[in-house]
Amino acid sequence: MRLEGKVAIISGGARGMGAAEAKLFAREGAKVIICDVLEDEGRQTEAEINEVGGDAVFVKLDVTSQDEWENAVNTAIERFGKLDILVNNAGIIVQSTIEDMTVELWDKVMDVNAKGVFLGTKTAIPHMKEAGGGSIVNISSISGIVGQDYVNAGYNASKGAVRIFTKAAAVQYAKENIRVNSIHPGPIATPMTAEGRADPERVALTLDRTPLGRYGEPEEVANAVLFLASDEASYVTGSEIVVDGGYTAQ
Ligand code: NAD
Repeated sequence: MRLEGKVAIISGGARGMGAAEAKLFAREGAKVIICDVLEDEGRQTEAEINEVGGDAVFVKLDVTSQDEWENAVNTAIERFGKLDILVNNAGIIVQSTIEDMTVELWDKVMDVNAKGVFLGTKTAIPHMKEAGGGSIVNISSISGIVGQDYVNAGYNASKGAVRIFTKAAAVQYAKENIRVNSIHPGPIATPMTAEGRADPERVALTLDRTPLGRYGEPEEVANAVLFLASDEASYVTGSEIVVDGGYTAQ
């Protein structure tokens, strides 16, 4: 198994890509702390993992709260004795043009998507140092690499922040054997994109820019996250992997 004996925290693990990562990690031998604001979905994912012999625990976490991050990381230490892997996956998307975007909306998207990654990383690092190393995987987006005319610019800005924060953290903690990398998904079939996928115009717009011509599945992103989280990626840090059906290649 590729994560045998590892302990992993996954933010936004209740549903979508985070839940796919939690299930895959558990199948690969990791003990998983699923963190989310969605309690019912989080407990459901926890149960689905434990029913098939995995080892998962749900902890309520709003990634914008430093206290709740402390609680999540402490749960990993108390329950499983250490923390090896953090996947900063929680995120939100908002719709608005720049002209119509309120300061509140800008702050909200930056708070969850960018500050949440900073707080998770800040809280995890001391424990990873103690353990002699670790792997942090930050879920950015293709929206952190290219601008899009149909995406909220605050979302692009927040995901761009995740991309460069990842590289800074990688450089600053390499000596501690803590690897930090980012994943940049393209359009993926999760609850986040459900509304867009129900709109034929939006689907056409999205798939027209996606050479593979379809939405990706959450498991296809989880496979890349698994690689970066595992010791197979022992010489990979500060890097970015696009999982985007070719979206950013053209
Ligand atoms: P999703 O909405 O299905 O899942 C996101 C999860 O994050 C949810 O369970 C949600 O409750 C949780 N979350 C939101 N705010 C939170 C908070 N403040 N604290 C804790 N948890 C919170 O979306 P998804 O598509 O699975 O997205 C996962 C990540 O991938 C996000 O960071 C998203 O921005 C990114 N992403 C998604 C796509 C896509 O097409 N779906 C593409 C690129 C990047």
